[in-house]
Amino acid sequence: MSLFENTLKQIEKAAKIMSLDPEIKSVMSVPQREIEVSLPVRMDNGSLRIFTGFRVQHNNACGPYKGGFRYHQQVDKGEVKALSAWMTIKCSVVGIPLGGAKGGVIVDPKLLSEGELERLTRKYVQLVAANVGPTIDVPAPDVNTTPKMMDWFADEYAKIQGKDLNGEGFALKGVVTGKTLPNGGSKGRGEATAQGGCYVLHEYAQSIGMEPAKTRVVIQGYGNAGGIAARLLAADGYSITGTSDSQGGVVSDKALDLPALTACKTEKKSVVHFAAEGVKVVTNEELLEADCDILVLAALENQVTVDNADKIKAKMILELANGPVTPEADEILAKKGIIVIPDILANAGGVTVSYFEMLQNAANKYWEEDEVKVKLKDIMVKAWQEVKANADKFKCTLREAAFITALARIEAKIKEKKLI
Ligand code: NAD
Repeated sequence: MSLFENTLKQIEKAAKIMSLDPEIKSVMSVPQREIEVSLPVRMDNGSLRIFTGFRVQHNNACGPYKGGFRYHQQVDKGEVKALSAWMTIKCSVVGIPLGGAKGGVIVDPKLLSEGELERLTRKYVQLVAANVGPTIDVPAPDVNTTPKMMDWFADEYAKIQGKDLNGEGFALKGVVTGKTLPNGGSKGRGEATAQGGCYVLHEYAQSIGMEPAKTRVVIQGYGNAGGIAARLLAADGYSITGTSDSQGGVVSDKALDLPALTACKTEKKSVVHFAAEGVKVVTNEELLEADCDILVLAALENQVTVDNADKIKAKMILELANGPVTPEADEILAKKGIIVIPDILANAGGVTVSYFEMLQNAANKYWEEDEVKVKLKDIMVKAWQEVKANADKFKCTLREAAFITALARIEAKIKEKKLI
């Protein structure tokens, strides 16, 4: 089943439970606009290569389209469509006035020089410029795209508009988020995804009386989201007893020494080289099935499937990655009583702070990190409470409840604005 079919299935399920107006379900089942572009890029050796890129704008009933763009050799339009729909739902779950979009270019960025990546990024901007803008569609970093690329994006967009970002065109910085701080980024953006997930986890833990000191956490994906989550959860008193990256994982009976583990990952490029008393190297499959209380999924989509859902020992799953559990696996986990805090809620901290970045760019006034954190916490806690209330009301899973929360808000907007 394709990723987009997974998304449609999730919408279908929630629609049935909440008796969603069938016309709203039809609107949500198709993106409003799909853009495909061919990007001619001059390579360092003088040759010309044509790359294929996409921007899919799923829905803007709640506000301007919002969503990252990725550089990966396996990008395809179906994947981008699924991710764009999840963005619409995610923004609505946390109640920020944004719609959903996603972009991508089929390229292995590791094979390109920095100059080639800059020319590729600027060409992408030139070809999507007519359809993006601070009040139209606002891209952001995603897999393999960085704050520096977002700076190139804003710079190229301003050039096309004939404006100076440091002068009268300051508000055009809001055409893209996830920029570096000197170029209009927001404080707290780097940590936002993990931080938002931790705020939600904290609310859940309190509601069931879970004690961090007695709770073992295993984290798949020691990258941006997973690595920061490890640090924040350890600071809250949780024991991080296992983690992994693309090369494999490590598990231990007691809490891992995170500063030493991070140093190892930086120096030797993988956590599998981390050696300490009681630490065992495991495969990625074994890591997912490790004995623990909480499993944090922070790597890729489709990690927990029909093949391994039955073997998961964790009592709950926090999805920081997008789509790490397939719909079929979701049903198995629900039957086993394993609670899943779904991606569209758990990782929404990233897009929430991106929204803060848009507000700061528009006002040309920048917030301190504490202010960002307080505002992020307010939004995440409120979203958790609404999702939990819907889960109780409809006697459904948290994922179904998150979709219901989002779809109800989108339905109200579509009807209020008479969009259909
Ligand atoms: P990242 O590239 O920094 O980290 C990903 C990590 O996963 C890396 O350590 C990589 O080695 C590891 N990995 C890759 N394949 C693996 C495998 N098979 N098994 C175990 N580990 C594997 O990326 P990130 O920004 O942390 O994003 C991770 C996930 O979170 C993605 O699904 C992304 O879409 C999602 N997400 C990230 C953000 C954000 O702000 N960073 C926001 C929302 C969602």
